[in-house]
Amino acid sequence: MRIIERISEMQHQAAVWRSGGRRIVLVPTMGYLHEGHLTLMREARKHGDEVVVSIFVNPTQFGPGEDFERYPRDMSRDVTLAREAGVSMVFAPPVNEMYPESYQTFVEVTEVTRPLCGQSRPTHFRGVTTVVMKLFNIVKPHAAVFGEKDFQQLMAIRRMVSDLNLDIEVIGHPIVRESDGLAMSSRNAYLDSGQREIALSLSRSLAEAERLVESGERHGKIVLGKVEERLKGNGELRIDYAKLCNPETLQDVTEIRGPTLLALAAFVGKTRLIDNKVLHVRTD
Ligand code: AMP
Repeated sequence: MRIIERISEMQHQAAVWRSGGRRIVLVPTMGYLHEGHLTLMREARKHGDEVVVSIFVNPTQFGPGEDFERYPRDMSRDVTLAREAGVSMVFAPPVNEMYPESYQTFVEVTEVTRPLCGQSRPTHFRGVTTVVMKLFNIVKPHAAVFGEKDFQQLMAIRRMVSDLNLDIEVIGHPIVRESDGLAMSSRNAYLDSGQREIALSLSRSLAEAERLVESGERHGKIVLGKVEERLKGNGELRIDYAKLCNPETLQDVTEIRGPTLLALAAFVGKTRLIDNKVLHVRTD
């Protein structure tokens, strides 16, 4: 497995692979890898010949006062884990390689990025779509794998790929969880043991909502009421949003009539966590 830091070198390697008929699959990450990322890499291997993992803490997707500087980083551990997961190449550019001083171009998906995380992080998705577009042009993948943990991000990328006619297959992968249900995240490293226990209320409230819907509840207000009640029982937790929405459009839903996304974001101490689940209505 090689590690490449330069854009020109990565583009050259991608061109060599392409001319040899190799199918390239990209897994974009911000590093500090965990089992969620590694699962995406193993999934990527099924879809092509060469798996490229990018490791880049992307400054343009962090707002002022967010955790860009203190975001956890451990390149040598990440490289070992990526190698073990069967990756061909790690692309880990420095910030000034991706964003030289003269940089001034952004890619923006306007609608699906508006609700949910777009409300509290108004510049976040334009940073995400911009860096992913750059990575697509650098790594030249035939396919790219993203986690449903960042459901809205996956939708924004699907929209961008469709709207800009990119010839890239976007593959979504379900959320990978710890054995107690906590969605894996690099930001979980910020949590002390008490906060980690509180953070569990996100996945637990999603499971409770699922049980309610399975038992016949269809009123969004009632489901969200239960979710909020469970989340609010925790002193150190502040809800950013708890929403039921259409998983295709992300528009709010009041009645659960078909597949419905329950999306959560909450601060536990200073750490912002997200989680989600698509609730299904039983038809039998
Ligand atoms: P990040 O490094 O947090 O930017 O995540 C890189 C990619 O891994 C994104 O596509 C995320 O959605 C995905 N990812 C992160 N955590 C998980 C998880 N627990 N399960 C599945 N995918 C994940």
